[in-house]
Amino acid sequence: MSQPAMPQHTVESITEGLRTKRFSAVEIAREALEYAERENPKTNAYLMLCPERALATAAEVDRKLAAGEGAGALAGVPIAVKDVILTKGVRTTCSSKMLENYIPPYDATAIERIEAAGGVIIGKTNCDEFAMGSSNENSYFGPVRNPVAPDRVPGGSSGGSAAVVAQGTAVVSLGSDTGGSIRQPASFCGVVGVTPTYGRVSRYGLVAFASSLDHIGPFSRNVRDSAAVLRVIAGRDPMDSTSAAAPVPDYTAGLNGDVRGMKIGLPVEYMKHATGETADLVHNAVAKLREMGCEVRDISLPSTDYAIATYYVICTAEASSNLARYDGVRYTFRSTDAGGPDENKLLAMYRNTRGEAFGDEVKRRIMLGTYVLSHGYYDAYYLKAQKVRALIARDFTNAFKQVDAIVAPVSPFPAFRIGEKVNDPVSMYLSDIYTITGSLAGIPCMSVPCGVTTERSAGDAGLPVGLQILCNHFEEQKMFRLAHAFENS
Ligand code: GLN
Repeated sequence: MSQPAMPQHTVESITEGLRTKRFSAVEIAREALEYAERENPKTNAYLMLCPERALATAAEVDRKLAAGEGAGALAGVPIAVKDVILTKGVRTTCSSKMLENYIPPYDATAIERIEAAGGVIIGKTNCDEFAMGSSNENSYFGPVRNPVAPDRVPGGSSGGSAAVVAQGTAVVSLGSDTGGSIRQPASFCGVVGVTPTYGRVSRYGLVAFASSLDHIGPFSRNVRDSAAVLRVIAGRDPMDSTSAAAPVPDYTAGLNGDVRGMKIGLPVEYMKHATGETADLVHNAVAKLREMGCEVRDISLPSTDYAIATYYVICTAEASSNLARYDGVRYTFRSTDAGGPDENKLLAMYRNTRGEAFGDEVKRRIMLGTYVLSHGYYDAYYLKAQKVRALIARDFTNAFKQVDAIVAPVSPFPAFRIGEKVNDPVSMYLSDIYTITGSLAGIPCMSVPCGVTTERSAGDAGLPVGLQILCNHFEEQKMFRLAHAFENS
């Protein structure tokens, strides 16, 4: 059988193929679905495919094209969606037993916008349960394997969305990022992953983990495709009061501007922890940026050391509140254990439902979050964390007075072995050190591939490493321009 074209497709190649009638949207959708079906056993990246919905959207694209109507910026592009984003009529599980059979009654705004732009949703991707994790090993439906290095994790929590793009079973995908869940898996799988400014993309229909930190963003194989997807999903949405009214620029049109003279900051607090091949590859990337005419200088983000503690207080506090809704009444799963004869039946139902259907990491976070919000501890933990969060954000505000963009590693190490860190949650939490600061500040950040290690995986491939680029609020355009120039160098 000849090599399928699927893994090479980009938004541009599909737009071009449809325009020149080399293929139809239905043909591309069929090809993507078949390829995903065949390849998925290698990675477990898709939890389900939705052929009916995909073929119906694709047929509508073909109809519009035949009628000479505009079919949209993502016409015919096969797109996978992290299973924390609601898809009407298509099961959405958050990789949790709690929502194993949950069929949402409405679409997330990002999904509506993608389909309005002709994008073809082909399936839902595996992730850490309720997006809590850094390795995709916290899924009720089993871990995802990194397509580049099958003995390794793909990163998390949006591991499936990164894997399908790396594997070529989707052209682009959507993930969610609360503390690094788009950038880190993008780095581990060697693809582009973008966390937009907080509020840039509506969270309506994104199942809440930590509402003040949750973002939806794209994965793709090149910067241009992420820019195209972000343009479609960004913008004010009356259904999300935290979504920003700022106009959405044409990110793709802005890609080719000059980066000569751009001022780039390298945070000393990050680089002093960075070791091994990851640090080498980031230093090489910085040298490349200099060659491209950027002015690179050291900057300081002095509150960095407090970021992990701050994040794990705030995100667990918000999670404990957000996840209180899974009570056995409203969302599908209910324990059949009604408790002993002397027990309060209602409390027994709550306890047994939550006890049986949440995984260990989710329970750990609900307990931690409940504790930091409890009477007597609120001021010491939650309120304190909010104050430190403001300091972390101020570090960035100060830095962006001196520089246009900041570059940094995404993760202290490349993809680790499946099982290597599962019994050590603290070491797993520490792996978020470079991504959490940007999330707490709500600024746009992304990962763009910057090379592979000489360390080999079991499949004898080098391990991908991403370069993180961070910009000030709503400066996605500048961030894309720098990433695109770097990618082309
Ligand atoms: N790894 C981080 C966590 O476990 C980030 C998760 C995320 O961004 N959703 O919370």
